[in-house]
Amino acid sequence: MMVLEPKIVGGVCLTAHPAGLKKALDEQIAYVAKQQAITMPKRVLIIGGSTGYGLATRIAVAFAGSAGTLNVSFEREPTDRKPASPGWYNNKYFDRAANDAGLIAESLNADAFATETRQTVIRRIKELFGQVDLLVYSIASPARKDPESGELFKSVLKPVGQAYTAKSVDFLNGSVGEITIEPAKGDDEAHSVKVMGGEDWILWIQALLDGDVLADGAKSVAYSYIGPEITFAIYREGTIGAAKEHLEKSAAMLNSTLKAIGGEAFVSVNKALVTRASSVIPVVPLYISLLFKEMKEKGLHEGCIEQMYRMLSAKVYGEQGVLRDSAGLVRMDDWEMREDVQKAVAAKWDSITTENIQELSDIDGFRTDFLHLHGFGWDGVDYAAEVDTQG
Ligand code: NAD
Repeated sequence: MMVLEPKIVGGVCLTAHPAGLKKALDEQIAYVAKQQAITMPKRVLIIGGSTGYGLATRIAVAFAGSAGTLNVSFEREPTDRKPASPGWYNNKYFDRAANDAGLIAESLNADAFATETRQTVIRRIKELFGQVDLLVYSIASPARKDPESGELFKSVLKPVGQAYTAKSVDFLNGSVGEITIEPAKGDDEAHSVKVMGGEDWILWIQALLDGDVLADGAKSVAYSYIGPEITFAIYREGTIGAAKEHLEKSAAMLNSTLKAIGGEAFVSVNKALVTRASSVIPVVPLYISLLFKEMKEKGLHEGCIEQMYRMLSAKVYGEQGVLRDSAGLVRMDDWEMREDVQKAVAAKWDSITTENIQELSDIDGFRTDFLHLHGFGWDGVDYAAEVDTQG
């Protein structure tokens, strides 16, 4: 038992609060339970379903689509003196809530990049479901051990070609400053592609096909981001962007592969949101704070759960099937990239300072979302009370 407080270092929160995470999960479940049911197949495998977009997808398929779910994610377990990582609690509470609702739900805490994890998952799919109808691939990881060679590859968030200087915010205290990020060197870009590109997604689909656990007509979705010009140097044209391009090309290849079983693979380009992965990308928190202000004022704001419910109900399992743009992408960033939204964000970008950040942006919304992701900052949770780290 211990009192848990947020411990934040360099945009990373090292602690998590089980009671607040339970509240966050319950809110997301309540949101989808109020929406119209999604007509979709009922057996779903999620890779990276413990937090952020993967968790929201899992909640939407289960509580709006009545699907059974098997999730693979990699989370730190609790000890007597240290809480688990947020996803560990999310998995526990999700599985319990879904089981209580009569749905199959199981979470595997394992390295999705490892061959033995794929074999365990295939065995478990056979036992739980026979086959799956949807594979959601939602991994964000700083490193990947190659399953063949055992070599550890690290992904970096750097511009490509030249150093990049831009505004950035310390979202905890709201101070706006300038940062310079040195360009990728040596193998930085190739290694980032190795971690966050499509290679592992391809290995998953191959293994599931070989194990005969992908049902006829099965679909698979992975998530990407494009964003506005302001973030191009660090995101889309940076090392992570190279990985995302690889992921998108992999989708085209996998789409042909899955045609053999009447299925399809595609990438959904999602909105910029506060997750554990996006909070550590330089420049992005300032952009998100400006974006949130505009989108909230225009009544267009969505969180992960609203995005994933809309994706599944309207753009994947809607009457017209998977709705892709001319490049084959599902665009869930459609509202983020609206001209009026982007014009307003760009207009404020140049003038934003520590002094006017409160007025021009939704920095408070960013901070609140960040704390909420870790179970902190929720009304009705007694943060002074000792809690069991086992949740
Ligand atoms: P997140 O950090 O909330 O989730 C990452 C997930 O990956 C977690 O479930 C974690 O356990 C899992 N994971 C990491 N390493 C793993 C491993 N070795 N084995 C098994 N599981 C592992 O991040 P997120 O923002 O939800 O990102 C998910 C996807 O969405 C990423 O592809 C990301 O690029 C994309 N995306 C994010 C945003 C955004 O703004 N956050 C926008 C568009 C697209």
